[in-house]
Amino acid sequence: MDFPEDLMHLIRTDEPLGPLAWLGIGGPARFFAEPMDAADVQRLVASAHEQGLSVRILGGGSNILVREAGVDGLVISLAGTMSSEITIEDTKMTVGAGAKLSHAVIKSVGAGLGGLEHLVGIPGTVGGAVVGNASAGGRDIGSVVSSVTVVEKDASIRTMTQQEAGFSHRKTSLVGLVVLDVSFELETRDVLALTKRMQKLWISRNAARPTVEPRIAMPFVDPDGMPAKDLLQTVGLAGLQEGQVSLDGQHPQFMIASSGATSEQCLRLIERVREQVLLQTGIDLQLNLQIW
Ligand SMILES: Cc1cc2nc3c(=O)[nH]c(=O)nc-3n(C[C@H](O)[C@H](O)[C@H](O)COP(=O)(O)OP(=O)(O)OC[C@H]3O[C@@H](n4cnc5c(N)ncnc54)[C@H](O)[C@@H]3O)c2cc1C
Repeated sequence: MDFPEDLMHLIRTDEPLGPLAWLGIGGPARFFAEPMDAADVQRLVASAHEQGLSVRILGGGSNILVREAGVDGLVISLAGTMSSEITIEDTKMTVGAGAKLSHAVIKSVGAGLGGLEHLVGIPGTVGGAVVGNASAGGRDIGSVVSSVTVVEKDASIRTMTQQEAGFSHRKTSLVGLVVLDVSFELETRDVLALTKRMQKLWISRNAARPTVEPRIAMPFVDPDGMPAKDLLQTVGLAGLQEGQVSLDGQHPQFMIASSGATSEQCLRLIERVREQVLLQTGIDLQLNLQIW
């Protein structure tokens, strides 16, 4: 594989992905790059395309499960060196895709702009949240997005409207594109009231999460009308274990990877859960976690 000379300083080979994923497991990326700006991303995408290499985008790594075999392609990380700038103009806030979602939430609340505060405590980047239409408390991030700037598969840059981004329940039509930045249209609110609301949500969200083990993921999409947590508890799957991987006993919507866990074990656990839920309830539980 040949990347152009002027891109070589950005490319690393056989880069371990486990340390970059919240689950802490998985094999290496054949090629790995941390672009500095949009032009780098465009050139990386164009060059990978020319070489027939698959491209995957890494944000905060809180919603991926990397197989032991790793990724036979190019992984572009936007969480490191790429822009995480946040600018505010009246009620419009524009955020670089590599910014942490929590930073964007805190910044909006501090500026007296409402619409993102309910997402406090969701790990990862703004890019990852927008691509997966992250949601909490029944409201998704897409509802306050006004536009999204992306690098298309042909490496051109395009700004998409909220409608073009196709937000639906934990889904968008942005998969396969590289999100560079996102503009939100927010509402002017009282800073103190917003801050209090955010703090309350932050406390309750932290209390509803396993605290002992840091290597966790939230594998399933809440099915219509019922939180995955309640469904898994009703079906009796809380605490279910496969090797060193288990569903948390108290908060079974979280999958925990203990020391010695493998991606294979994660995949087997997910399959067992889906089978049992389908058998007992007829519900085809959908995956939120992205399998690499
Ligand atoms: C403890 C915990 C709590 C969670 N709580 C919630 C919750 O309440 N609600 C919720 O919706 N989710 C939740 N999640 C899931 C996860 O945090 C979100 O999906 C988050 O938005 C993922 O962002 P990320 O940057 O970590 O994405 P990553 O895990 O890095 O990537 C996820 C997917 O997005 C793609 N992607 C990332 N950035 C870009 C980009 N810039 N351009 C194109 N594609 C990109 C990746 O290719 C991948 O397919 C939780 C996860 C954990 C571990």
